[in-house]
Amino acid sequence: MFDTVLVANRGEIAVRIIRACREMGLASVAVYSDVDRLSPHVLEADKAVQIGPAPSSESYLRGDHLIEVARSEGAGAIHPGYGFLAERSSFAGAVEQAGLVFIGPSAAAIEAMGDKTEARRRMAQAGVSIVPGTQQPASGPEEASATAQELGFPVLLKASAGGGGKGMRVVTDADDVSGAFEAASREAESAFGDGSIYVEKYLTRPRHIEVQVLGDRSGSLVHLGERECSIQRRHQKLIEESPAPSLPPEDREAMGLAALKAAQAVDYHGAGTVEFLYQDGEFYFLEMNTRLQVEHPVTEFVTGLDLVQWQIRVARGESLDFRQEDLSFSGHSIECRITSEDPDRGFLPATGCIGHLEVPTGPGVRWDGGIRAGSEIGLHYDPLLGKLIVHAGSRADAIARMKRALGELVIQGVETSVPFHLRVMEEADFREGDFTIAYLKDHPELLQPADGEDRLIALAAALLEHRARGNVGASRINEADGRGLSAWRTSGWPWQT
Ligand code: ADP
Repeated sequence: MFDTVLVANRGEIAVRIIRACREMGLASVAVYSDVDRLSPHVLEADKAVQIGPAPSSESYLRGDHLIEVARSEGAGAIHPGYGFLAERSSFAGAVEQAGLVFIGPSAAAIEAMGDKTEARRRMAQAGVSIVPGTQQPASGPEEASATAQELGFPVLLKASAGGGGKGMRVVTDADDVSGAFEAASREAESAFGDGSIYVEKYLTRPRHIEVQVLGDRSGSLVHLGERECSIQRRHQKLIEESPAPSLPPEDREAMGLAALKAAQAVDYHGAGTVEFLYQDGEFYFLEMNTRLQVEHPVTEFVTGLDLVQWQIRVARGESLDFRQEDLSFSGHSIECRITSEDPDRGFLPATGCIGHLEVPTGPGVRWDGGIRAGSEIGLHYDPLLGKLIVHAGSRADAIARMKRALGELVIQGVETSVPFHLRVMEEADFREGDFTIAYLKDHPELLQPADGEDRLIALAAALLEHRARGNVGASRINEADGRGLSAWRTSGWPWQT
């Protein structure tokens, strides 16, 4: 029904989708803004079309224009990736109205789940437990205050239209509700064009655990297990894994069933994720993301399924060729989001040009990247450079493998989050699987260089300098005084500092 797919996105996810298309014998059309002219997704697609200047409002977010490009390039389907237009029901609807296939769920499902209060109403009706709180936006600060008093502090003021951690305020004191309400509402208004705010109980030490679901258009629906996503900074995920460490089997089972109920309530088809907060053995529906997620590869590793290919198959009208009971889960997978942010300076966004890039390979290692040597990293788009994903037989082996792979990853020219990830892989609570969404608050030391890290950097710099002077034969640098041996000479081993 379609043989060409327009990929309405950029970066690593566009590359990921283009690869799936190629493996399925489908042609791909990439789109790019001026600054992305030489990006990997442009180079890897069968064809690429320039769609505007750098700001996404004038390029990647121009839905009508993207539909026109799809038509003129003979693409019968559009894959939105994640972010940008992926969760705009109006875009999904417009694609279908143009006679093209939207690779994703129905516009109605996106709409129902896109508004958090509407989603909460639907879930409560379907018998899925939700975080205690209201199911309607508050009329103003007074009503929010009254609800907060009823729920008991702390509460979370949350934008109905929210996403990406925006438009949220934790309030611990009755006096602060009004100010926080106005601030959250303003932020939501400017980010989503909708300032409605509702009130939820703020759970202090939950884990964020989510369930991947996949359904076809004839009503078959399965869940593909859970992902642990509690390692977050400012409500944004940094590290994800599957399965969730030490989750009791009965809770895992119950969460899987609740996710299916949630998806059924909106006649879901395609790939989607039902997010829960899990605390003291209870879990609560948080939201459903009606799209592919950044962290989908950990599920791919443990299930052996290709989620992007399944999205495309479902969009082509194919049925799932397996049932829930046919699925098996193997080993353990971890993903680190590698961003252009400096973990030693409060994750300050970093810019620059990638001078040199080496990506890890070897058993159980996957790099989903959106950069190449020569890529300019600016501030126009999100800071995700790529994702490093590993798979091994056990969680301990997966951690060891991630350390090995992070050690092999060389991104030169821009600060990255790699040092942070290496510290987490060494940290005892993470290694024990004992953490909640408060992990970074509990471990502020992870936001500074670890003991000895500065020293290691100094030694590496000394080694480079040593080599730059032509002393390639030296094999050791004395850690105590930074002196190294240069090449052997008949007169002995001269030392150099
Ligand atoms: P967004 O759509 O902006 O990503 P979510 O509702 O998915 O927002 O929440 C993002 C994160 O915020 C969660 O993973 C969790 O860390 C935190 N969070 C959200 N709601 C609550 C809550 N009621 N109590 C505690 N933490 C919460």
